[in-house]
Amino acid sequence: RPLISIRDLGKRYETRKGATVALDGIDLDIAEGEFVSVVGPSGCGKTTLLKILAGLEERTTGDALLGGTPITGPRNDIGIAFQGSVMLPWRRIIENVLLPVELNEKPTPAHRERAHALLALVGLGEFGDSYPNELSGGMQQRAAICRALVHDPSLLLLDEPFGALDALTRDQLNVQLNSVWEQSGKTALLITHSISEAVYLSQRVVVMSPRPGRIVDVIEVPFGRKRG
Ligand code: ADP
Ligand code: ADP
Repeated sequence: RPLISIRDLGKRYETRKGATVALDGIDLDIAEGEFVSVVGPSGCGKTTLLKILAGLEERTTGDALLGGTPITGPRNDIGIAFQGSVMLPWRRIIENVLLPVELNEKPTPAHRERAHALLALVGLGEFGDSYPNELSGGMQQRAAICRALVHDPSLLLLDEPFGALDALTRDQLNVQLNSVWEQSGKTALLITHSISEAVYLSQRVVVMSPRPGRIVDVIEVPFGRKRG
């Protein structure tokens, strides 16, 4: 059974100016441990799809299942990092990373160890006690990936996590994201505007087109990476 199962998913936004069909008849299965990217022009529904999977937006029609259970609202087995994910400026990096844990329970020493290990994995081992304004934008985005993983979610959702950064920094962060994925064993879904990024990171690339948002192609990456 796939970890994520999307069947005939549709989303209509109703506004005072009229209705927009953001998603129409989306079908997609994602296996446990897979890394899938979604590409397509602005307005093709990428963010809407991710928001529905994150439980942050309601679907209009169809089904979106995680582990066989319908996604009906935010849940703590999903980790999310969006473009320009913000760190709370008055909290140290380690305390920012621990936020998703804190929403459910008081962080234990084991949680702190995990947070430190994740920071070390993305080259921020020395920065747990720093404040966000002491870090560059790229470093903060790396910390945001750690925050998305700290509560050991079964699914990682990434919406242009490095979108605001320059190309060289992005390349470096993608190398790190790749090793995080290889070591964590997580299932990941990434929105990106960059085909090369999608091909580098993922095993399958979902191509969408707008008006209405549909999947027009699913490309198996040749010589696609396998974990390990
Ligand atoms: P991107 O192309 O990077 O996803 P957009 O500018 O298309 O960015 O949209 C960013 C967010 O703004 C969307 O996820 C959505 O929540 C909101 N948004 C986009 N279009 C509208 C709209 N017509 N009305 C209200 N909110 C919108
Ligand atoms: P993408 O992420 O691919 O840019 P979005 O999912 O943000 O696409 O948007 C898909 C379509 O839905 C666009 O036409 C956008 O304007 C519209 N849309 C997105 N969010 C909203 C919203 N909150 N209210 C109304 N329309 C929206």
